[in-house]
Amino acid sequence: EKKVVLITGCSSGIGLSLAVRLASDPDKTFKVYATMRNLAKKERLIECVKSLHKDTLDILQMDVTSWQSILDARDRVVEKRVDILVCNAGVGLMGPLEVQSLDSMRQILEVNLFGTIQTIQAFLPGMKARGQGHILVTGSTGGLQGLPFNEVYCASKFAIEGACESLAILLQHFNIHVSLVECGPVNTDFLVNLQKAELGDTSLQQVDDLTLNLYEKYLQHCGSVFQNAAQDTEDIVKVFLEAIQSPSPAFRYFTSGDVPPLTKLKATEPGGSRYISALSKTMFSSEEQ
Ligand code: NAD
Repeated sequence: EKKVVLITGCSSGIGLSLAVRLASDPDKTFKVYATMRNLAKKERLIECVKSLHKDTLDILQMDVTSWQSILDARDRVVEKRVDILVCNAGVGLMGPLEVQSLDSMRQILEVNLFGTIQTIQAFLPGMKARGQGHILVTGSTGGLQGLPFNEVYCASKFAIEGACESLAILLQHFNIHVSLVECGPVNTDFLVNLQKAELGDTSLQQVDDLTLNLYEKYLQHCGSVFQNAAQDTEDIVKVFLEAIQSPSPAFRYFTSGDVPPLTKLKATEPGGSRYISALSKTMFSSEEQ
């Protein structure tokens, strides 16, 4: 019997690559429901799976911010069960905190936090009733350590950590595993899709010069990190596969293979000052790289 997998946010990036990989599994182990908010964007996914038999992939509309849309997608799962749920949909928000509107902050939390939680809520009762399941969530380094100009994004990803860790404790009693796949920078549409304050934006005119100067440095740093150190989605998919195939999956996986040094520093110095100054130096010192 195939394992039924449902993935959110499959029109691009990590979700798309994971859907393609699982649906093209040589042993046809998986039946994949690749879901996306906007079905008009399904061409890319279809292009990647052209030669596949229809029995391993189905594409469904699902907007994680709409409970009705989640329920409709759940109803279309012909097996009437999901063995592996991958909560992957997410968006970024970047810029000085004082220019972020309440609406844009809410939108990030709607997708990243409530979207993830609502998706889990929809599939949890079925998993509990069957006494098995695996919930995987695309986590971020920004969920483990603060990053300047990403306050609200980090808040949403930190919140996911808390929600997942809390759930994992309970779900042990139901033979349901929870795994976070913690990603650093990955080559996807993430930077294109995120809401970002651009240096010329009129909204930034009210912001003080020091903040703008540091924001410019941050953007340069970010650009070079994505150019030089970003992982490809295939690397991320390998880690998802490891977690999916493990008989006793870990709670956290680090796609870089190890805990990032600055995350380690944060853990070893709970007072936090060393992390804060180390990060500031990494991002803002002009001698960087
Ligand atoms: P991406 O922008 O290519 O993919 C994100 C997907 O989520 C998109 O397909 C988008 O359409 C979808 N999405 C957005 N709002 C949605 C909604 N309301 N309902 C359903 N889908 C929605 O970027 P990605 O890098 O593949 O992002 C996937 C996940 O990885 C996100 O949760 C992101 O926070 C996380 N992540 C990415 C990076 C990175 O550097 N790219 C790093 C760490 C974590």
